[in-house]
Amino acid sequence: MGSEAEAAVRRYRMYINGEFVESERGSHYPVSDPSTEESIAEVPSGDEKDVDRAVAAAKAAFDSGPWPETTAQERGRILFRLAERVRKESVMLSELESRNSGKPIVEAEYDMADVATCFEYYGGLSTKVLGHVNPVPDNALSLSLREPVGVAGQIIPWNYPLLMAAWKLAPAIAAGCTCVLKPAEQTPLTALEFAHFLTDAGLPPGVVNIVTGFGESAGAPIASHPDVNKVAFTGSASVGKAIVKMAADTVKRVTLELGGKSPNIFFADADFESAIDGALFGVFINQGEVCSAGSRILVEKPIYPKFLEAMAAKARTIRVGPPLERQTKMGPLVSKEQFDRVRSYQELGKKEAKLATGGGCPARITRGYYVEPTIFYDVENSARIAQEEIFGPVAALIPFSNEAEAVRIANATPYGLAAAVWSRDIFKAFRVVKALRAGIVWVNHMQPTFVEAPWGGYKQSGFGRELGPSGIEEYLETKQVHINLNEKPIGWY
Ligand code: NDP
Repeated sequence: MGSEAEAAVRRYRMYINGEFVESERGSHYPVSDPSTEESIAEVPSGDEKDVDRAVAAAKAAFDSGPWPETTAQERGRILFRLAERVRKESVMLSELESRNSGKPIVEAEYDMADVATCFEYYGGLSTKVLGHVNPVPDNALSLSLREPVGVAGQIIPWNYPLLMAAWKLAPAIAAGCTCVLKPAEQTPLTALEFAHFLTDAGLPPGVVNIVTGFGESAGAPIASHPDVNKVAFTGSASVGKAIVKMAADTVKRVTLELGGKSPNIFFADADFESAIDGALFGVFINQGEVCSAGSRILVEKPIYPKFLEAMAAKARTIRVGPPLERQTKMGPLVSKEQFDRVRSYQELGKKEAKLATGGGCPARITRGYYVEPTIFYDVENSARIAQEEIFGPVAALIPFSNEAEAVRIANATPYGLAAAVWSRDIFKAFRVVKALRAGIVWVNHMQPTFVEAPWGGYKQSGFGRELGPSGIEEYLETKQVHINLNEKPIGWY
C-alpha cells in the first residue's frame, strides 16, 4: 500500500448460495482499469472447489426449497424488481462498467438500460411459456409440458459484462432454472455488484451463484461438471469448441455465441452520408470489441474511392480518450493482452493491405491500452485481417463489382454471426438478405440489438439463440405426457 491508487483497490468476494464468500483456497487476483493500467479491485480466484460449492447450491435450490414452488408470476415479479434496481443503480453500475472495461461512459449507460429491459422482457415472458396438446390418433390426451432444464452454467466475456450476464440470467430465471455464472476474469465487478440485488428482489439462496476466476480453473469445471445440465457460452470460437468437448461426456445442452467476421455491404445506390456513419458505427462502436462488428466493409466499385476517403476522414475525428469523459467515442481496449493482439493485427495489416488511417496508438496518450481507429483498404478477402476475428477497431475495406460478387465475398468466412446490406433498391437488398449465411442481417443499419429479437449465429459463429422467445426456449425441456382415456384393457395378451 502507499499510493492513492493502491488505497482505492477494493476487495470483492464471490457469491454462492446467497452469501458473499472467499474462494476455498483464499487466493485473489487483481482487476485493472485499462485506461490507467492500475488495479482497482481484487477478486477471488475460484477453482473447481468453488465451482463444486456453487453447483451444489444451484442443484439444491433447483431440487427443493422455495424455488421449485415459485410460480411463473412470482419469477416474473422478481425479474421486474431486478430491472427496477438496475435502473435505480444505473449511475454506479455504468461508471464501474466503464472503468473496468474501458467502454465510453455513454455506451455503458445504454448497456445498463438494456440490462434492465432484458430483465423486464423475460419478467413478462415467464408467464407466457406455453405447452401443447398433441393430436395423437389414440383415445388419449397427449400433452407437451415445458419444464426448466435444471442447473445452467453460464460463461461470459468481457466486452459487455453486465449485459452478457443479463442475457444469460434473465431467461434462465424466467424458465425456473438455477445458475452458476462465471464472468470474464477481466470484468467481474458489475456482476458482483448486481449480486447484492438478488436477495432483495426475492430470489432464494442458490438460484444465482457467481464464481469469479480464470477460464481454465473456474470456467472448465463448470463446462464439465456432472450436475450442470446446460452450458451457455459467449466468447471465442476456440474456447467454444473446447466447451462442446467438455460438455459432451455428460451430454449437456450447449448454446454457443462465438463472434464473427461480419460483412457490412454498401451498394453504390445507398444513401452516402448514412453509409459512412453506418460503416464507422458498425466497426468502431465499443472500440470494435463487438462479436457482430462489421469489420469487413464491402463497397461497390463506383463509390469505393469516395467512400474510402470519406470514411477515413471521419475516422480521424473519432475522439479516443478516457472512458469516463462524456465526449469520448472510443476508450482503451480491455487489457494488455487484447492491446497486444490488436496491435499485432495492425502491423499485419500493413503487410497484407494498404493503410488509410490509424495503424498504431494515439500519439498524445501515454498510458492505457488505447489504439487508433484503423482502416485498411484494397484488402483481399483471403487476407488474415479479413478472415480472423480481431475484436478491436480495425476495418478491412474490400471492393466488389456486382451483387453476386458481394454475396460470394460476404459468405466466404467460417463465421456467420451478422451482416448488413445498404441499398435503396429493396429488391436487391432482399435478394442479398436471403443469400447471406448469417444469423442476424440488418438493412440500411448495423448493430441495433433488441431483446425482443433472436440473436445467434450460423456456421462457426455458434448455435442456439439468445434473446426473444428463443432465448427462454434454450432453458426449457419438453416433457411428453400421454393420458389414456380408454378404460378397456389394452388387450394385447
Ligand atoms: P475467451 O473465449 O477466452 O473467454 C470467454 C469466456 O470463456 C471467459 O469467461 C473466459 O474466462 C472463459 N474461458 C476461457 N477459457 C476457458 C476454458 N478452457 N473453459 C471454460 N471457460 C473458459 O475470450 P477472450 O476473453 O480470451 O478473448 C479472446 C478472443 O475471443 C477475442 O479477441 C475475440 O476474438 C473473442 N471474443 C469473442 C466474444 C464474443 O462476444 N463473441 C467475446 C469475447 C471474446 P477468462 O477470460 O476469465 O479466463
